[in-house]
Amino acid sequence: MKITRITAIPLSYRLPEGKTVTMGIGSTLKRDAIIVRVETSEGITGYGEAHPGRSPGAIVSLIHNTLQPLLVGMKATDCVGAWQRVHRMQLSSHGLGAGTCLALSGIDMALWDIRGKAAKMPLYELLGGSRRRIPAYAGGISMGFQPAQALAQEAQGYVAQGYKAVKLRLGDTAKNDIERLRKVRAVLGDDIDILADANTAYTIADVRRVMPVLAEIRAGWLEEPFACNDFASYREAAKISALVPLAAGENHFTRFEFGQLLEARAVQIWQPDLSKSGGITEAVRIAAMASAFRIPVHAHSSATGLNHAATLHFLAATENAGYFEACVSSFNPFRDMFGTTFKIGEDGCVEPPDAPGIGVEIDESIFERYPMIDGPGYMVKF
Ligand SMILES: [Mg+2]
Repeated sequence: MKITRITAIPLSYRLPEGKTVTMGIGSTLKRDAIIVRVETSEGITGYGEAHPGRSPGAIVSLIHNTLQPLLVGMKATDCVGAWQRVHRMQLSSHGLGAGTCLALSGIDMALWDIRGKAAKMPLYELLGGSRRRIPAYAGGISMGFQPAQALAQEAQGYVAQGYKAVKLRLGDTAKNDIERLRKVRAVLGDDIDILADANTAYTIADVRRVMPVLAEIRAGWLEEPFACNDFASYREAAKISALVPLAAGENHFTRFEFGQLLEARAVQIWQPDLSKSGGITEAVRIAAMASAFRIPVHAHSSATGLNHAATLHFLAATENAGYFEACVSSFNPFRDMFGTTFKIGEDGCVEPPDAPGIGVEIDESIFERYPMIDGPGYMVKF
């Protein structure tokens, strides 16, 4: 079974008025996603999702014009070989590093979908896992910079749905961040895990002010206080409190960059995204490396139900798996366009789909509703 064609389908939607969420990287204007279709000589078609990297047109071109010619004709079940070829021919030198990782992630995910469909196995089974229940937190683009009382109400709504963990956005002023953290803890009580994500907007000084409050409210983690490559700041911040682990990974690519996180000894929770960090093949390697150091893997979620389903399969087959990031965005048609991918239970957990491959039925006719809108996805904050 050979790869015969690779097609990238870019999709976008604008946020309707009143649905914009503000966080450390700005205010959301629109959302993009790229669906990757891989066709084979035996008629099995696989689908994956590549993160658009805020430049969907560029990633589509990379897939069509650079990676497709490298991969057409290869065995469709040879995920390791495809990965190695892209690494050798594109990532190793002159190769648009992160962009290639996003593009490769979507292709690799589609190849795993093909493997599962060919083997007639759901992906979690193919990866060596079982259909177990996975704890989920209320995440996605939600719980942004809003008055503390309104934020606490929003968080309470997710708890009422069954969530036992919620993720708040930090990176506003330290004063506002602290007020929101205390309010949400007071309203939710002690039994809910509160996670916090600064979306790279913090300085070391901010962390010094906010970290004691994160410890006081027993936050589960502080995510991405700094830019992905600011290892010095991560190392410094990790010394401030041993009670609140630092988390990162959604902007780290390939096992090699996760290896750098290990060397920095500053990031205690890893968050690879299956549509960003190099696909399922690479996420499995990253998780294995993390397991040797007892680092939990709380995978980051991308935009569509395809990424969400693939992530559930991956977590169900990962020994050191942590939370699934459930997208609770109040407006995300990409989450629901292939049907419901996950359903939160009263136990705060979700399960992967049970059909072969990623287990998501793709009706391509829906794509015409979301033509690509190139351009920035967030209003500039600075
Ligand atoms: Mg994040």
